[in-house]
Amino acid sequence: MCFCLLYRLYLTRLGRNRHYRQLRGIETPHVDPYQSLHFGEEGKGIEIKVVPYLEDNYGYIVIDEVTGDVALVDPADPDTFDEYLEKYLSLGEKNQEEQKFEKERNGKMIVLTTHKHWDHAAGNLQIQEKFPEVEIYGSKQDQVEGCTNFVDDGDIIKFGNGYEIEVILTPCHTVGHSVYVIRGVGDETIAFTGDFLFMGSCGMFFEGTPRQMQQCFDKFLDRCPPETKLLYGHEYALDDLKYAAFVDPENEAVHKMLEEVEQKVENREICLPGTLADELTFNPFLRADTEILQKRTNTDDKIDCLSQLRKWKDAKEHLKENTKVKFQ
Ligand SMILES: [Zn+2]
Repeated sequence: MCFCLLYRLYLTRLGRNRHYRQLRGIETPHVDPYQSLHFGEEGKGIEIKVVPYLEDNYGYIVIDEVTGDVALVDPADPDTFDEYLEKYLSLGEKNQEEQKFEKERNGKMIVLTTHKHWDHAAGNLQIQEKFPEVEIYGSKQDQVEGCTNFVDDGDIIKFGNGYEIEVILTPCHTVGHSVYVIRGVGDETIAFTGDFLFMGSCGMFFEGTPRQMQQCFDKFLDRCPPETKLLYGHEYALDDLKYAAFVDPENEAVHKMLEEVEQKVENREICLPGTLADELTFNPFLRADTEILQKRTNTDDKIDCLSQLRKWKDAKEHLKENTKVKFQ
């Protein structure tokens, strides 16, 4: 069956059923669940619990420490998200963290969906069933399931203690892929990149062209400062950096990050967050304008370079023992 047909089938309910079967088939997540990240002033900032699911997905529970408002990012494994939410609602003797969360649960809850693929959007209905008041955000272009609030490029979602979450539409992986950017957490900016950007790579061009992806990169770089913290939709760092080392072997930043990531993966630690400034030093997809990568791809055009970089990655050329890719 051709890829196009399989992809279209995946987008139907058959794909959602398959997603749920896959969830049931995974006993141990790829990293320990609910590892914590903290941004801003202690007790007055934002706490993020990382929720791993399937073989390499990441969802997030974002907790505003002042108001107790909660944002779930891509809760496509609703039971695992719920396990965390339930745990802190349990009766009986509560420890300090449980008490804190009980307060938080009185806050408002929203869901941010990066795109329509089931490994990101399949939990929305179940979350909605359990928490009927929840506001679910996702793009109109993607017709995200369970959405109560459709968003578009540049929209602002109010969250917690005066935070503004900006929507950056990044169409290419899907027509309505959205990145959510929280600004002003202390002096931090946090971006939930879904399948737009990964550590060392970017999402596949399922519904767009290399030119569109380049436009999305330019827009993202325009709107987000270099120190932006990146929270990706998948843990692909090890493979992505091996690919970066394959196409950009003399780049020291690639090897340095690869070493760090190998260590973290071995320890089942999250390779999060990344930063935009770091990505610009080692992510080949953000470096298609560099002389070195244009030379590798035998072009002087950044769109052609990006296109070739994607093709080799999709063909897994870096994993083939006898790869036919010969650099000039
Ligand atoms: Zn996707």
